[in-house]
Amino acid sequence: MKTPLVLVTAGPTRERIDPVRFISNHSTGTFGYAIAQEARNRGCRVVLVTGPVSVKSPPGIKTIHIESAAEMQKAVLSWAGRADYVFMAAAVSDWRAVKPARTKIKKAGRRLLLELEENPDILKTLGKQRNYRLVGFALETARLEERAAEKLKSKNLDMIVANKLVKGSKLFGDNKIDVVIMDRYGSRCIYKSLSKGRLAKIILDKAFGFNIK
Ligand code: C5P
Repeated sequence: MKTPLVLVTAGPTRERIDPVRFISNHSTGTFGYAIAQEARNRGCRVVLVTGPVSVKSPPGIKTIHIESAAEMQKAVLSWAGRADYVFMAAAVSDWRAVKPARTKIKKAGRRLLLELEENPDILKTLGKQRNYRLVGFALETARLEERAAEKLKSKNLDMIVANKLVKGSKLFGDNKIDVVIMDRYGSRCIYKSLSKGRLAKIILDKAFGFNIK
């Protein structure tokens, strides 16, 4: 049997505003890296497409470093055709500057308007035509399960892993979190206070457990 190829995205993206500034988010990459390492430990070939994080590149994994969502999309699409499983754990910026400035923007004693446009939804593109199992992630501040269920359907995913940003909780980084995992066959499981390493094992068990149809 052929060794499965697992494609994982992790970390934030950075969207340039000018040569020294960017829009980004708090993602540390911990979840995606845990999934990539767990897949490698199970003998899979792993390609990890990662935004800028302070986690070290794990040995035995082909790691591709990117900055923007557009770069992530290019790297992901170039590997997706060969992948058996895709885990989109990256916190892709939803917006980017319409026109990043070529030189550093200077203060001028007045308001600055920054025009943003939506980034391509990489996961949605991946859901369109595929020969791989596709797992998405969702971080919400409200109506978690409803929105996760919507995404599972609208992005044509096999499974979604959703967690809620609770005020005061440390969701980003290496902490224990609560998640709900839903799949396209209607299963819904809640896990409370688990490390991302433990959750990576559960997620891979579930994803690898689907029969390829
Ligand atoms: O719709 P939302 O951004 O909440 O969906 C989250 C999921 O979609 C994550 O798996 C994330 O990696 C993916 N995503 C993407 N491209 C975007 C935005 C999110 O692939 N532009």
